[in-house]
Amino acid sequence: MHAINTIFPLLNQPKKVVITMHQKPDADAMGSTLGLYHLLTKLGHSCTVISPTNWADFLNWMPGCGQVLDYETQTSKSNVLIEEADWLFCLDFNILSRTRRMEEPLKLAKGERILIDHHQEPQTSVFAYGISDVTKSSTAEMVFDFIVESGNIDLIDAAIGECLYAGVMTDTGSFRFPSTKASVHAMVYELKKRGLEHSHVHEALYDNFLETRFRFIGHVLLNRMEVFYEYNTVLMIIPQSDLIKFNVRTGDTEGLVNYGLSIKGIKLAAVIIDRGEERKSSFRSKDGFDVNTFARTYFNGGGHFNAAGGFNKEPLEEVAIKFKEAIKENAAQLSSYQF
Ligand code: 5GP
Ligand code: MN
Repeated sequence: MHAINTIFPLLNQPKKVVITMHQKPDADAMGSTLGLYHLLTKLGHSCTVISPTNWADFLNWMPGCGQVLDYETQTSKSNVLIEEADWLFCLDFNILSRTRRMEEPLKLAKGERILIDHHQEPQTSVFAYGISDVTKSSTAEMVFDFIVESGNIDLIDAAIGECLYAGVMTDTGSFRFPSTKASVHAMVYELKKRGLEHSHVHEALYDNFLETRFRFIGHVLLNRMEVFYEYNTVLMIIPQSDLIKFNVRTGDTEGLVNYGLSIKGIKLAAVIIDRGEERKSSFRSKDGFDVNTFARTYFNGGGHFNAAGGFNKEPLEEVAIKFKEAIKENAAQLSSYQF
């Protein structure tokens, strides 16, 4: 994988570009891809953003989101664009399998794959160019760096600002995680100077849910949450029947795992949801507990040191047992929490 700046001199030659992200994109995946989309479009490239799957409604306000293709429902059109692309930007994921059914077409694509990502252990061999930096707060911040370092800071407008702000704000937990370095605040300063209305972004993302989501959260916190004080761990196990009963939609479960981590003394929080075709897990941790390794070891997953996820094909009950065994195996680290 060649350094990302090797493509800077090529940015003035119009190209066919596909920009993609991980399945079930979050605000960082959608915000960073759309931020890059607006930049490359302004530079004269012919760009399309393709999401491997659908996404939460609360991302639809983002400028350009209306033009994003959903690979699952627009497969043939997407396949043609992937086949014909000169450049395929892969944002906010480290391994091609995070794009699900797009993995094969991306592997077979003739164009060059370019990585911009902040997850651990990237599959660098499949990318012609790229940057992987786990110290970065968000992929949105990395797109901002891309814009600045390629000499295009003056192309940043309110639309790019809103997309990138949404990514960096959500991936830093509203600027609270340790990944919120001075560079993050410096970036927000630059975006504000160029027209960003940040409170609009907060409202669009956080004040647009349906009542059913909060009824669902209430139900989960009351009936589906177990606290293992011995291991400083919280587990929420959600059967598919709950998703149906509360009419839970894509994105409604995002953030649920954080409630566990807000309980005093809790070091590891997990949510395991029966999504029908698989059991999807989310892990969050504090301080020294490495959920990236935990997710890789037991749950076919990965992510970051303090935020990771995975999936299992076994029934929900078996995954729950697996989790309880896993925390026992990690008891030495989990039990020794210092406040
Ligand atoms: P979330 O819990 O919000 O779905 O994901 C937390 C972090 O873990 C994200 O950075 C996400 O990219 C990563 N992650 C989530 N699920 C998986 C997975 O199945 N495999 C891998 N490698 N990473 C995941
Ligand atoms: Mn991210």
